[in-house]
Amino acid sequence: MGEDAIVAVARDLVVSPADSPLRVAIVGAGPAGVYAAEALAEQDAVPVAVDIIDRLPTPFGLVRYGIAPDHLKMRGLRATLQRTLDHPRVRFFGNVEVGVDLPLALLRAHVDAVIYTYGAADAGRLGIDGEELPGSLTALDLVSWYCGHPDADRATVEEALSHARSVVVIGVGNVALDVARVLARAPEELQLTEMPQHVLDALADAPVEQVTVIGRRGPALASFTTQELRELGRLQSAVVLVDPHDLEPLGAAEEQAAAESAVARNLAALRGWVEHEPSPGAVRLSLRFRWRPVRLLGPDRVRALELERTAAGADGRAVDTGELEVLPADLVVRSVGYRGTSLPGLPVDERTQTVTHTAGRVLRDGRPSTGEYVAGWIKRGPSGVVGTNKHDAKETVASLLEDVAAGALAPCRQPEDLLTVLTRQGLHPVLLENWGAIDAAEEALGATHGRDRTTLHDRNTLLAAARLAAANREDG
Ligand code: NAP
Repeated sequence: MGEDAIVAVARDLVVSPADSPLRVAIVGAGPAGVYAAEALAEQDAVPVAVDIIDRLPTPFGLVRYGIAPDHLKMRGLRATLQRTLDHPRVRFFGNVEVGVDLPLALLRAHVDAVIYTYGAADAGRLGIDGEELPGSLTALDLVSWYCGHPDADRATVEEALSHARSVVVIGVGNVALDVARVLARAPEELQLTEMPQHVLDALADAPVEQVTVIGRRGPALASFTTQELRELGRLQSAVVLVDPHDLEPLGAAEEQAAAESAVARNLAALRGWVEHEPSPGAVRLSLRFRWRPVRLLGPDRVRALELERTAAGADGRAVDTGELEVLPADLVVRSVGYRGTSLPGLPVDERTQTVTHTAGRVLRDGRPSTGEYVAGWIKRGPSGVVGTNKHDAKETVASLLEDVAAGALAPCRQPEDLLTVLTRQGLHPVLLENWGAIDAAEEALGATHGRDRTTLHDRNTLLAAARLAAANREDG
């Protein structure tokens, strides 16, 4: 439902007294959560008080920990999201894990509605032999690390990178291209990013010579987008290599896809690289299609990846051919999508790895559960660009407002403030002003290297920066 429709629904609402707003908690401060807060805060028919809760001390989810740090313009979206955090109807409670620090039932008892927007934070699995060998990482491991996520496993990633002469990235989505691009970039190209200094140092020291990106189907069925694909051709010291035999559409599904203009643009970009030759000193960035991973070969750590040639099935699926190849690899990055997980007290559908819903209303035992809503990747799966979450969150908020209009959802008359509940639980939430102090500390750290900011990656450092705001307030 669009913005106009939301307003139309909201106009029909029975307005609750201004002194008892509808109290909505949003679980997850990523783009979907902040967009849901924005849709709630910027309508006038129903007075609302919105609390956005995140398990991390910092807001913005994938805008901070997913968008590649070299995509500076896209990361600038944080300024738009910040405006919603600053809205007088919105509060931020970071460093609170719902379902762990704060039982879901306790949260639900103190607010009128909950919107789950906690994303899909698990990496997809291949389910093949050797997947767990040292030198085999998920894209999530690597992306979390280079974005400075406090839960990143620094030691494992940095050990793997120190061996990474020949890298294979499995999957041909935008995350795979992000990873390939970051690994193939010259150190100078990353200097002005927000990456923590240890990340810049480890990337500069990594001995990367070859990055091979592997798709199990033909390029017409790859899920990367044209802008991200073309960007590979603009890297300072990498040369993109493509086998022309891979590019001809095979089978009905590929031919049909190739007729779409976005896919045709992808194929044109790929064709532009078929004449390329390796060049001395440049990273070879190969894009290979119609190979599926069979197993990772060790024995002690990843040494190679066994692949099987695939043919195009009529339905577009990759069909085995029995033709095998062993590709040497020191680092394998598995970039095969993300999985949603359940939150204690909130089951996800095992098959779809999303919360079952109808137009954003959470279903329990097949029926809408009063006061429970869902938006973002945990609602629809890990797809779309950041902006997709805006439409998605609006649909959910429209359902919530419709439920108020229908009398199915109403403010509780004597609520206890959520901050009081959190404090009684012994929790120390990071509030908006504390987040402001973290933000300022990151800008100050960045300025020491002539950068706009540098991400603080360590949870204790983040919390220490946050506490500084509280200490300054008490002193003042
Ligand atoms: P994705 O687009 O779903 O790509 C997953 C890739 O993994 C596909 O190529 C898929 O191939 C492959 N794959 C899955 N299972 C496999 C298996 N068993 N063996 C081999 N390959 C396998 O997911 P993503 O790249 O993680 O991206 C998630 C979302 O974030 C997407 O919507 C993406 O566009 C978005 N994103 C956007 C940007 C941007 O706008 N710059 C950046 C990053 C991410 P099949 O197609 O054959 O299944």
